[in-house]
Amino acid sequence: MVYKLVLIDACFDPLSYYFFLNPHSIVNKKIHGIKNLVIFATSNSSYNHRQTMKLYKANIIFTREKDHFEVVEHGYVGVENGRVVDVASSADAFDQQPEEIIDYGDRLLIPAMNDMHVHAGQYRNQGISMDMELLEWLNNYTFPEEAKFSDTRYARRMYSRFVHDLWRFGTMRTATFATTHLESTRLLMELFREAGMGAMVGKVNMDCNSIDALLESVDEAVAANEALIAEWNDPDGLVRPIITPRFIPSCSSAMLRACGEQAQKYQVPVQSHLSENLGEIALVRELEPESRFYGDAYDRYGLFGQTPTIMAHCVFSEGEELELMRRRNVMVAHCPTSNINLITGIAPIRSFLDNGIKVGLGSDISGGHDMSIMRVMVYAIQQSKLYNQKYRDKHFLSLSEAFWIATKSAGSFFGRVGSFEPGYEFDALVIDDSSLNYGNYTLTQRLERFIYVGDDRHIAVRFCRGQEIPEPRILD
Ligand SMILES: [Zn+2]
Repeated sequence: MVYKLVLIDACFDPLSYYFFLNPHSIVNKKIHGIKNLVIFATSNSSYNHRQTMKLYKANIIFTREKDHFEVVEHGYVGVENGRVVDVASSADAFDQQPEEIIDYGDRLLIPAMNDMHVHAGQYRNQGISMDMELLEWLNNYTFPEEAKFSDTRYARRMYSRFVHDLWRFGTMRTATFATTHLESTRLLMELFREAGMGAMVGKVNMDCNSIDALLESVDEAVAANEALIAEWNDPDGLVRPIITPRFIPSCSSAMLRACGEQAQKYQVPVQSHLSENLGEIALVRELEPESRFYGDAYDRYGLFGQTPTIMAHCVFSEGEELELMRRRNVMVAHCPTSNINLITGIAPIRSFLDNGIKVGLGSDISGGHDMSIMRVMVYAIQQSKLYNQKYRDKHFLSLSEAFWIATKSAGSFFGRVGSFEPGYEFDALVIDDSSLNYGNYTLTQRLERFIYVGDDRHIAVRFCRGQEIPEPRILD
């Protein structure tokens, strides 16, 4: 007679739990020659002694503050239940024994990227049609493309490529516009969920100043938003809806009011565009004559920080608008590539930082042409240098500031995301820069070279919320 002793922990271990619930079935099947089974159940207190923490060993670089990097050469990040336990230079520094140590050798380990403004429904137009300013560009190129997403087969092809490209460039959290179409928006959310990547996805709401194929009634918009909120609005969910009035010129007062009411009723965040282009700002002045400035027009409808809010661009935001953004904790999605491609201007990013306004970076595909947030960091730094040529008191961005903006500052919109401080969700990239590392570089120089001259081929492993994210499927 062979006896097997199984120590049951009353929680969390599915196999033990199965034994606990089904001892007879195990015994009867005589698994592995075991003819009998003796089971001991232990109290929950033993859970504290279980080894569930993993340690990831590599050259660790992240930011706590914008002004400098935290660097731990050949250090360890402890991760448990998807969150960072701590970072240390020795495995012995952790209170508990790790379940496993994963050693990435001489590679870099950095927080993953966050894209705070991008249009999934413009993915096909990435890198084309850069010969017009915003309002003409929307009417001639962008609206006709977005209209194609009434066809879910087309949406499936484009959106699966879009999610795949985000993965490729190490963007694990995204705030994205879809189009006005409910079904294809739902499909995009399912693709993010299937990939295991975090996203706030907005079904675009618009009822005026566009082509007929994209216009909807206020009732239709409200019903579609309600459906997505009912299906997806789990505050802990990786994929969530975000209320998305396209911008003031595309929305009637009734539409803006309905969007603001829904955002507050269901505590759903908001995203839109603000002060991007001088023609647009003049149009908003005409459409909303009672508003003192563009941001005030959103504010009147409860769309300016009443729930967490992202406003893209803010190139011409100043004075009262900046002050209201600061008070309401409105996050700027700074999109430097788009601002140049659409002949918009240079956003005053130093003024945002000096005024205590939160900033993240956006690729703004397809006004922007580059999906890589690393490259967007470079453009942001370069534009801040051009800005500095005209406004000498506005110092240009340092590398650590750009990195902090792209990771920790942007990530704050999704919770505790974008750093390796204790309690942060483990969103991370393992960077294999061996092909770039031939010059006796310091660790921060290696990071700088990856950002400036590296690309997606140097990203070896991606994590979102502690899970390693495999390559998503491209669908046809
Ligand atoms: Zn945009």
